Amino acid sequence: MQMPEPDGRILSRKAEVVRRLAEVLSDDALIHAPEELRAYECDALTAYACPPLAVVLPVSTEEVAACLKVCHEERVPVVPRGSGTSLAGGALPTADCVILGVSRMTEVLETDYADRIIRVQTGRTNLSVTGAVEADGFFYAPDPSSQLACAIAGNIAMNSGGAHCLKYGVTTNNLLGATVVLMDGTVVELGGAHMDAGGLDLLGLVCGSEGQLGVVTEATLRILPKPEGARPCLIGFDASETAGQCVSDIIKVGILPVAIEFMDRPCIRATDDFSGAGYPDCAAMLIVEVEGSDAEIDEQLGVITQIARRLDPVEVRVSQSEEESARIWLGRKSAFGAMGQLNDYICLDGTIPVGELPHVLRRIGEMAKGYGLEVANVFHAGDGNMHPLILFNANEDGQLETAERLGEDILRLCVEVGGCLTGEHGVGVEKRDLMAAQFDVPDLEAQMRVKDVFDPGWLLNPAKVFPLETSAARRAVAAE
Ligand SMILES: Cc1cc2nc3c(=O)[nH]c(=O)nc-3n(C[C@H](O)[C@H](O)[C@H](O)COP(=O)(O)OP(=O)(O)OC[C@H]3O[C@@H](n4cnc5c(N)ncnc54)[C@H](O)[C@@H]3O)c2cc1C
Repeated sequence: MQMPEPDGRILSRKAEVVRRLAEVLSDDALIHAPEELRAYECDALTAYACPPLAVVLPVSTEEVAACLKVCHEERVPVVPRGSGTSLAGGALPTADCVILGVSRMTEVLETDYADRIIRVQTGRTNLSVTGAVEADGFFYAPDPSSQLACAIAGNIAMNSGGAHCLKYGVTTNNLLGATVVLMDGTVVELGGAHMDAGGLDLLGLVCGSEGQLGVVTEATLRILPKPEGARPCLIGFDASETAGQCVSDIIKVGILPVAIEFMDRPCIRATDDFSGAGYPDCAAMLIVEVEGSDAEIDEQLGVITQIARRLDPVEVRVSQSEEESARIWLGRKSAFGAMGQLNDYICLDGTIPVGELPHVLRRIGEMAKGYGLEVANVFHAGDGNMHPLILFNANEDGQLETAERLGEDILRLCVEVGGCLTGEHGVGVEKRDLMAAQFDVPDLEAQMRVKDVFDPGWLLNPAKVFPLETSAARRAVAAE
């Protein structure tokens, strides 16, 4: 993965840029000492790192606008940052950029239970949005596994999802309005506290735009009353393909579980050792959760277990208590941490049509064998959002590169079967150079023209999403 050479003219003007930023911020909101900048040198894609020129940590939309205005006038690139948990390198700096972090913008600005909305500053973490309303019986539905740490800012930029998004939709389905600051400091309001905005769906455009169009500082989010009850069941199979078939059959029959999560043997073993969840010894396992009244739950679980039993499962375990439900989820929720203790890994994020699951799982196994690497699968199976974890040893020469090549092949396979390079983690730098596998030149040109409108100087997160050679001419004009 390549990043553009930093602009020497910007590096040589660091003192002046810092001086101007200091004029619009309090002392503790500006970081420029080399040793302190290291804390911002990467996000959760830790294979790549580069300390930025400076970091600003504003506390309000006005301060964000003032910082952007300075950077616009000084023609310094800006990389917006929430909590830095991106797995795609979306918040990775370049040496000549200013990181604009919203982590100090955590206020709840408004809660309205009658209209079922909450308005927050976007540095607030995902889980603490639910935290602000749960005592009153409400919750915020999108639930990335990183929800304890990741910010609403990053969730909006990446259109993040999570285990329960099968039923409730991803971020875009739960975002009603946003305050966005454009690169020149202009503040715009998109959407509002109501379904659908008048005019073009610019909110839909900004959600998932990976910090390319503007900096989102405030968000109006949909909150929902907590369901009456929820219960998971665990289903083990002796082949991944059979588990994939079961997912496909459940979706086909027309019931909508709140979550269908998949783990294969390497993941089951690692998470069970890590958490003591008590998972069965099997090749693949599903956790299927349904919600509703007791009668609704019983009815849905009855259909699901019937479908599973037709496929000769190793085990079907329907939770009988809150404690058992928590144990069933325990391993799944700690899956990335558990795998990280054992191996280095690359976490992929392709989506596929659910019906293709058995075929794609088989092909991933074959491809992994061909590369001599192991792949562990843990993912949101219900919506076809796959997270193959390619296991490798970073201390062994060439293994990272081999793992990256396998990753590219797997993502190409996702596109081939009618899916997409990214479900919820975004393109960032990780899939930037693969974009041509999904989009031809006119497609990419059309997408870049959208950025031209919002950010004509190509200063916002400029080295991401579009292959470097495709965006080179635009970035060069911006640098002149
Ligand atoms: C262990 C682990 C588990 C994860 N599980 C999930 C999961 O289940 N589902 C999922 O979807 N993701 C998951 N992720 C990925 C990650 O948490 C999400 O992409 C998350 O939304 C990133 O949020 P963040 O605040 O950390 O954003 P950052 O990493 O700081 O930034 C992400 C992107 O958003 C842009 N951005 C940040 N702030 C702003 C802003 N204010 N305005 C405009 N653009 C901005 C950045 O430029 C960057 O492109 C996981 C990550 C980890 C490490």
